[in-house]
Amino acid sequence: MDILSKTAERYLYGAKPKVIPLVLLITGMIVAVYCLVYFTGGIKFVYSHSMYIPIIFAALVFGVRGGIVAGIAGGLALGPYMPIDVITGEQQHLINWLYRTGFFTLIGAFTGVSIDLLRERLNDINWLMNNDQYTDLPNDQSLINRLDELVNSPDVKKPLYLLALGSSNITTLKNTFGFSVVHLIVQQMNKRLHETLLFNNGIFNHHVEQMAVILGGEDRAIIDQQINDIIAAMKVPFIYENIPMHIDVHVGGIIIDGKDTDADTLQRKVDIALNHAIDEKIDYYFYKEEEDKTSKINIGLLGSLNHAIESNQLILHYQPKIDIASKKLLGAEALIRWEHPVDGMIPPGNFIPQAEQTNLINPLTKWVVDKALSQMTAWDQHGFYPAVSINISTRNLHAPGFEDTIYDLLEKHSVPSYRLELEVTESALMKNPKYAIALLSRLANAEITISLDDFGTGYSSLEYLCKLPATSIKIDQYFVKNLSKDDGIKNIIESATRLAHSLDMTVVAEGVEDEESMNFLSDIGCDFAQGYFISRPVPEKELLAFALAN
Ligand code: C2E
Ligand code: CA
Ligand code: CA
Repeated sequence: MDILSKTAERYLYGAKPKVIPLVLLITGMIVAVYCLVYFTGGIKFVYSHSMYIPIIFAALVFGVRGGIVAGIAGGLALGPYMPIDVITGEQQHLINWLYRTGFFTLIGAFTGVSIDLLRERLNDINWLMNNDQYTDLPNDQSLINRLDELVNSPDVKKPLYLLALGSSNITTLKNTFGFSVVHLIVQQMNKRLHETLLFNNGIFNHHVEQMAVILGGEDRAIIDQQINDIIAAMKVPFIYENIPMHIDVHVGGIIIDGKDTDADTLQRKVDIALNHAIDEKIDYYFYKEEEDKTSKINIGLLGSLNHAIESNQLILHYQPKIDIASKKLLGAEALIRWEHPVDGMIPPGNFIPQAEQTNLINPLTKWVVDKALSQMTAWDQHGFYPAVSINISTRNLHAPGFEDTIYDLLEKHSVPSYRLELEVTESALMKNPKYAIALLSRLANAEITISLDDFGTGYSSLEYLCKLPATSIKIDQYFVKNLSKDDGIKNIIESATRLAHSLDMTVVAEGVEDEESMNFLSDIGCDFAQGYFISRPVPEKELLAFALAN
């Protein structure tokens, strides 16, 4: 079956089958039809129609020319010397066999033209399957075919190296100049790769905006040198419509030592390596199996997160926030935890960043707000009325209907909006500051409290800080935890506090772990504190107990 399909593929896509045996075969078939007609009594019997078989066969194999030649040959074979009736010896009229020859030729030509057209289309499709139509470069399918070929061949010296080249700023350029800039850059990258790597096992256009290269048979030191050469070559600006453009190219790599024989797996791993190089802003990075294991765990976790929401595996803990001067409890920050039936308690750091990469963060945040508001009404029964802060991700801000979801939930639980605080980070604002500030301003107008989380770790653009409808900033715990070690940090906290006060904002210090920090914060006039020194994040009952004792 495999041989059959290979032969059909070769034939359809145009590789020439062995010519001489086929010519002999077709000639044999024509002679056979001649003999058949002759020995069964002559041309008056319908056997002459059998001549279509070699003619069509010739057209199928050799195209239009083969069809015409076989048509003429077949017509002549049943022509002047072929009687109408062998017994009586009655001969054909000239016009008879000329007409038949013409008809056979026409059949051969028509079949040949049809099959040539079909072959051309199939060639186009085959080309498109293996090449990118915009850059004309071999694509991922070609890469897979080549990898399969190389990896599984015992004659190819191992290890081989698969590299993927990607850029972190090409998407920005694409958004500014359109897709044509990507195609042009990819073509120029291809040219530079060919110039840099005289010996390679293939250069491909990978995932539209990237390139993939297979290098082989060399020592790792030589490969490292080649990668450095590639990176140097890519540092020269690319020219697009006379504009020089700098592309920050990173390289991900994987060593193909024969353990992974599946091209898809190799591609996936090299993509992981490339993403790592881009994320860490390093020139190049080779894939490591151990890291993949952890990322698989995370991907696996993400898959079951949806189910976790439905099956109550998620819970909220609450960390108290106190007024530094009066030591009174003012509110709490809701922090999510995942009680996994198999893996035990999973901290948010192990699944929130992953959920933030997908739309899953939207139902998750909705769940948190819903849960926290319902808890607030439960606390109300005990005469405990804290404000509760919720962490909001970038993707939440940009999700359609986010604002309405918040209003709907407040209404559902009949909790006054000023008791709900949303914590947003500077980086979440910076994705689209105008949009974010407009949205947060509407929420603030509805009396929802806005707080700027992790202050000091982001861009801290004063322009946006002035426009932000936040009532407080939370100084990032890095500063608070390290204040006793460094006077510079103390100065930063003091300046940030003064700045916030001058903008009519209050200041929360988070990560307060000891008395010394607490005293310092009190001295400089910081308003509120949150941290292990006061309390760790605790389940709702413990927060109530803490409040009653307070
Ligand atoms: P965050 O918003 O900065 O939350 C503060 C983190 O610092 C919490 O970690 C808290 O337990 C921890 N922390 C508080 N005081 C201290 C201290 O004195 N010392 C030390 N070493 N740590 C302290 P947690 O609960 O592991 O949360 C980590 C991050 O996960 C949070 O950082 C937040 O960004 C995110 N997160 C947690 N819950 C949610 C949620 O419901 N939604 C979203 N979007 N993110 C959440
Ligand atoms: Ca927070
Ligand atoms: Ca924080």
